[in-house]
Amino acid sequence: MISGKTVVAGVAGRPVAHSLSPLLHNAWLAAGGIDGVYVAFAPDAHGFERFANGMRGGAIRGVNVTVPFKQAALRVADRATPRAQAAGAANVLLFEPDGRTLADNTDGQGLLSAFAVQAPVWRADAGPVMVLGAGGAARGAVAALLEHGTPRVFVINRTLRTAEILAEAMGPRVSALPFNHAAGVLRDATAVINATTVGLNDEGELDIALSLTRETAVVMDMVYKPLETVLLRQARSLGRPTVDGLEMLLGQARPAFEMFYGQPTPVDVDARSLALKALTP
Ligand code: NAP
Repeated sequence: MISGKTVVAGVAGRPVAHSLSPLLHNAWLAAGGIDGVYVAFAPDAHGFERFANGMRGGAIRGVNVTVPFKQAALRVADRATPRAQAAGAANVLLFEPDGRTLADNTDGQGLLSAFAVQAPVWRADAGPVMVLGAGGAARGAVAALLEHGTPRVFVINRTLRTAEILAEAMGPRVSALPFNHAAGVLRDATAVINATTVGLNDEGELDIALSLTRETAVVMDMVYKPLETVLLRQARSLGRPTVDGLEMLLGQARPAFEMFYGQPTPVDVDARSLALKALTP
């Protein structure tokens, strides 16, 4: 039911039609009997600033922001939370009634909550972590790991310079390495996190020798299409604990929902099954 008080929020991305966020947020709204709606927006590829400025004033409560607008979302915002600043990217924009916009980033929270659900024994502060990739998702992950006490983070990226820029921005606990130097640090890693696009739609394979990791090292893949990526399949065949990208997606969506609608997500929705059904071809 749309009423005179319906709170509107949504997701902005391009492409956006494949996003699971409308399905999840609207299911939570319905289950909670909340007077709200969640819709998808596909701003022009170079028009994110125009889009965001058009939303100023709070007629729309906020949007999740996805590829390719996460960095642009941070740039257009008047204020940003420390975690969005640390990540250099925003996945949430809130439009305040006074016309200002606030940028936040819940990706890191989503990542850590996925570990808490699927690898509860793992602790962020127990030892070094290897992050594959140096884009927006990697930045969010590194910022969250540092905030939660990870003593060393090794960022491995195809383009070394991008990883070096990330490491310089994040401080002395972060080091940049090329893929062919990964073996030297894999043995000590408590977790290996794929934050590249490799594996998406079963395309490509990461050149990483998981067999060198400790038995307890957790292997996490942010890619969730397919849910079981080549990397996760390799990890499982070696007996390593795994964390999947769908759990991270749910973990970043829940705090965003609370920001938009002022209430936590209802517990009686099996959001994971709902999303899995939508992902099944
Ligand atoms: P991005 O900013 O475009 O970064 C892409 C990264 O992938 C870069 O580090 C890039 O390396 C690397 N890459 C691309 N093709 C590669 C290849 N063939 N070999 C090795 N590395 C390659 O993207 P993003 O926003 O960070 O997102 C990264 C992934 O995380 C995406 O699959 C996204 O869907 C996923 N993600 C998932 C969630 C979730 O909730 N599960 C949340 C956020 C993101 P170069 O620097 O060398 O180009």
